[in-house]
Amino acid sequence: MSTVVAVDGPAGSGKSSVSKGAARTLGFDYLDTGAAYRALAWQCLEAGVDTLSPGDIADELPRFEYSIGTDPDDYFVRVSGEDVTSDIREPRVTNIVSVIARVPEVRQYMVDLFRGIIEAATKPGIIVEGRDITTVVAPDAQVRILLTASEEARMSRRSAELAGIDASVAAKALSDTALRERDAQDLRVIDFMNAADGVTTIDSTDLDFDQTVQAVVSLVHSAG
Ligand code: C5P
Repeated sequence: MSTVVAVDGPAGSGKSSVSKGAARTLGFDYLDTGAAYRALAWQCLEAGVDTLSPGDIADELPRFEYSIGTDPDDYFVRVSGEDVTSDIREPRVTNIVSVIARVPEVRQYMVDLFRGIIEAATKPGIIVEGRDITTVVAPDAQVRILLTASEEARMSRRSAELAGIDASVAAKALSDTALRERDAQDLRVIDFMNAADGVTTIDSTDLDFDQTVQAVVSLVHSAG
């Protein structure tokens, strides 16, 4: 049985890059669960599904052929064999993903999907990151972490990411609002701002990337 490390946190907490970095250091697999919700949202957009209809969204599930790379050095996301790794990061997908993720049939489908991927992991461990990993997907994980950062730190990290794409102040303000709105939508479904019993909080507000990775790696070592 592989060691399972569950990492939850809000958008912009850096949990994807930190989880990937820690997986690399530890020689573990890495599972980005948000990518599956994004991929389904992308499929719904491509198929012209009415995203106001939870029933129509759920009807897409039998047609959802999904695969994801869990090697931190070979990350990809495919839907029906098509590479959608970058398409699922587009704003049109980000804008509707919370609507997709609150459909109960979708959540159940995804939980089963993630558990299957975790069971199939072949490395000594797997770091699984998302919103409900410590509480729903893998509540029995050997290591359970809530990765937080102050809202200010999260916004400025997100702005730094955006800087390469569009440095305008207006674009950053829009992105801050979108990030806050997405968290607010997601919080209606799962509480990923407060650590559940037995979950260790890592507050990365005053840590740089390497220090945050190290904090995760140390927790894994001390558990093992
Ligand atoms: O982590 P990321 O920002 O890529 O996640 C995209 C969306 O997927 C989140 O805004 C949330 O709506 C949904 N999600 C979820 N549960 C997870 C991971 C992601 O509901 N475990």
